[in-house]
Amino acid sequence: MSAYDVVIVGGAAHGASAAYHLAADRAFTGRILLVERDPTFARAATALSAGGIRQQFSTPVNVSLSLYGIDFLRRAPDLLAVDGDQPDVGLVEGGYLFLATAAGADTLGRNHALQTSLGADIVHLDAAALAARFPWLSTEGLAAGCFGQTGEGWFDGYALAQALRRKAKALGVALMTADVAAIETAHGHATGIRLADSSRIAAGTVIVAAGTATPRLLAPLGVKLPVEARKRYVFSFACREPLPRIPLTVDPSGVYVRSEGDVYICGASPPEECDPTAADFEVDQAFFEETVWPALARRIPAFEAIRPGRAWAGHYDFNTLDQNAIIGPLPEMPNLLVATGFSGHGLQQSPGVGRGLAELIAHGRYVSLDLAQLGYARVIEGRPLIEANVV
Ligand SMILES: Cc1cc2nc3c(=O)[nH]c(=O)nc-3n(C[C@H](O)[C@H](O)[C@H](O)COP(=O)(O)OP(=O)(O)OC[C@H]3O[C@@H](n4cnc5c(N)ncnc54)[C@H](O)[C@@H]3O)c2cc1C
Repeated sequence: MSAYDVVIVGGAAHGASAAYHLAADRAFTGRILLVERDPTFARAATALSAGGIRQQFSTPVNVSLSLYGIDFLRRAPDLLAVDGDQPDVGLVEGGYLFLATAAGADTLGRNHALQTSLGADIVHLDAAALAARFPWLSTEGLAAGCFGQTGEGWFDGYALAQALRRKAKALGVALMTADVAAIETAHGHATGIRLADSSRIAAGTVIVAAGTATPRLLAPLGVKLPVEARKRYVFSFACREPLPRIPLTVDPSGVYVRSEGDVYICGASPPEECDPTAADFEVDQAFFEETVWPALARRIPAFEAIRPGRAWAGHYDFNTLDQNAIIGPLPEMPNLLVATGFSGHGLQQSPGVGRGLAELIAHGRYVSLDLAQLGYARVIEGRPLIEANVV
């Protein structure tokens, strides 16, 4: 049986980031294995994501995670270069624009104060300032908006995951393509993994970063994660009227849109009662026609004349307790770590979460940013850490 100091299950953004950060940490000299069942990432959220990064959150730890996220993405070409070959993670600092009616204005203002106190470059604009700065926007019904002038935008999640994997490999991480069937334990400790072909690999520490498959891998150990797969669509379209680059604009209705090169991508989360556990990757084009497009055309009049394009569906690892990540060791099993429940904002958190998991293993504690409040303890205690700005 082969043996590693650390085995990571799931090799997309979070697994690859943990592998990279651990391998890059001089305090760690052990052997690392990264196991991924589908390195094409055809169904991984990482590849199907809208790729947004923002500091416009309501929870301080989420703001801080995305501040590290943008710092990492800006430096990714240098940090993740292999033999001088720099990856392009497609970072565009196009900004986020959160819009609020009078009913949401106080919350927007409170969040803005929090975000700027932590160092985010967000400007608060009243309706007149919004109209002046974004002439393509209808400000009807709006009281205010917040715009990320720098540090917010979007990037290519697939490219980031591949660059992290390539760099991790260059730093000595072993990459394996295999389906993990089970996490093995003995006497309250993780001992390794069992693969679908029944072979076993021993591990000193196991990290499970398997996206929506994480709860299923942990359930046999008696660990109940409040995480479900929820389907989200991304629709693209072209617009007849040329517009300047549109930041990722979040309408008070919850519908979002942003530029993607010469076209636009958009989407929305459905109301809770119309959001069952996802069973497939089918796209409901009627959701675009009946819900998304009408809201967009009201907010951006040029979008009354559009040509719909490609659309796809992905699965959020949705945390039903508080729409925040669950990160770190499981209380009864200190050498079994998880990273799941990202509820649609996990891609931008992958640099910070990977760094945090690596610090726990290499240093025995969080060093750069304390992620303890995102730990599993709050699930057991029923103590939600609510994130209000879920898009
Ligand atoms: C439509 C959509 C839009 C999104 N938009 C954004 C956004 O704008 N900004 C943002 O920050 N986040 C966004 N997200 C969320 C983000 O994509 C995810 O939070 C993030 O990519 C999760 O990464 P992960 O590595 O944890 O999981 P995943 O990307 O799901 O990867 C898990 C990996 O584990 C592998 N795996 C699973 N089970 C096994 C097993 N048994 N054995 C081996 N391998 C296994 C899978 O093959 C997969 O590659 C979006 C998600 C979706 C679906």
